[in-house]
Amino acid sequence: MPTYEYLCKACGDDFEVRRSITAKARTEACPHCRSRKTSQKLSGGRRVPRGRSSNGAGSGGGCGGCSKSSCAGCGRH
Ligand SMILES: [Zn+2]
Repeated sequence: MPTYEYLCKACGDDFEVRRSITAKARTEACPHCRSRKTSQKLSGGRRVPRGRSSNGAGSGGGCGGCSKSSCAGCGRH
């Protein structure tokens, strides 16, 4: 019987629940605080961190030579 990891969002504790693989996923109550604000952890899940879009240089649409967001006022073009 596989074990499923749960994380309690109320107290931050994590616990394991054993249940049949054929059983439907359901909300398990936290054994510590009895809260049902728990979420199942994905076992072996590869949680890919969301890459923030690289928005370093060139942000704002300026030409780089001016600090304004538009090159209309920098007079270099
Ligand atoms: Zn809890």
